[in-house]
Amino acid sequence: MALLSVRNVTRRFGGIVAIDDVSLDVEKGQIVGLIGPNGAGKTTLFNVITRLYKPDAGELEFAGKSLLHTPPHRIVRRGIARTFQNVELFRTMTVLDNVLVGAHTRTKPFRSGAVRARAHEVLDYVGIADFANRPAAGLSFGTLKRVELARALVAEPQLLLLDEPAGGLNHAEVSELGTFIRKLRDDFDLTVLLVEHHMGLVMGIAERIHVLDFGRKIAEGSPDEVQRNTAVIEAYLGAEPAAA
Ligand code: ATP
Repeated sequence: MALLSVRNVTRRFGGIVAIDDVSLDVEKGQIVGLIGPNGAGKTTLFNVITRLYKPDAGELEFAGKSLLHTPPHRIVRRGIARTFQNVELFRTMTVLDNVLVGAHTRTKPFRSGAVRARAHEVLDYVGIADFANRPAAGLSFGTLKRVELARALVAEPQLLLLDEPAGGLNHAEVSELGTFIRKLRDDFDLTVLLVEHHMGLVMGIAERIHVLDFGRKIAEGSPDEVQRNTAVIEAYLGAEPAAA
């Protein structure tokens, strides 16, 4: 049984169909890539999985139970945590307090010594222990992305959704990030669903890849299979599909 199962999900915004009859499975323990050109529906699908958006049609199951009756504020407790494409943090709060917000969803009282110690450990793990008492405002984008990751990790998720983690990183940093995501998966016993435009990163670490284009799923497979798929090549090159 897949850890996450998305079945025939559609989400519209007025006349725009952001995702259209999309189905995909994410197996426990895998790193799975979700790719597609701009506007393909990737972030919308993340927002549906985390229940920020209600699907117009379809079903979502996590660990064998529907997610459709779980309100957004209970999603983390179900075992799903995420980062955001453009970073969503409390900018006037310290880095540590932002991370404690992630712990709040799991543990009470969330300011206890043990929870704070765990938050410090996770900040150390993601490499930003020195920033614990700094306000989030003013920190670099790369550091803020790590704060978000730490906030997600202290919530002890089974499934981690990463939305463009390579955004703003240079070539060497992207290469380190790939190694880091693999280590993260192993150390925290995670399943990872990754939205990313950096093809080198996705192809290097994902075991399975799903491809969206104009809201529809056009391909799925191993990185090799997806890279050879004509529909995927056409979507990325913007070519007209070949006549049937
Ligand atoms: P990118 O790679 O550029 O982040 P994406 O694949 O994540 O793109 P989405 O952001 O999910 O794509 O957008 C899919 C489509 O849905 C786009 O046409 C977008 O304009 C539309 N859309 C997304 N969110 C909304 C919204 N809140 N209101 C109206 N339209 C939306």
